Amino acid sequence: MHAIYEFLNISDLPENEQEPFEKWLKFSDGEYLQQWYDAWKAHPDKILRECFDGWNSLIDSAEKELLQIGVEYRHYRQIKQKLGGLRIYIDTQHLPEDAQKKAREIVEKFIKLAASTCEYCGADGILLSHSGCIRTICKNCDQKTFGTEEI
Ligand SMILES: [Zn+2]
Repeated sequence: MHAIYEFLNISDLPENEQEPFEKWLKFSDGEYLQQWYDAWKAHPDKILRECFDGWNSLIDSAEKELLQIGVEYRHYRQIKQKLGGLRIYIDTQHLPEDAQKKAREIVEKFIKLAASTCEYCGADGILLSHSGCIRTICKNCDQKTFGTEEI
């Protein structure tokens, strides 16, 4: 894992991309990874997912269900991994009350699904802690990432 700064000079970017990228770096204290920058460039209209790829299909489904009740990309505040769990923060104030309730239910449903899904590969996972780093992870990815012999 490398910091973006090791790969990228903002002035190397096309002019129309420099300002949004700078804002994005400030928002994140500049700690994002190159792969996330690439993902953002490919989908600048989507909220950045601050987690590994194993949760992507869950988040895709959550976004699809939320879109059906009126939660658009501009209503997302943050999607991330925190303490090993998926967090999806959205604005629902524009929705009628029943849709707000539905939105909470959808988010809760996918947070629950993510709690048993490996954040790295999408296989069945469990919550594990490695010296303060808490992740929902499967046995294979745990060995690959943290070098643990046994769970
Ligand atoms: Zn895995």
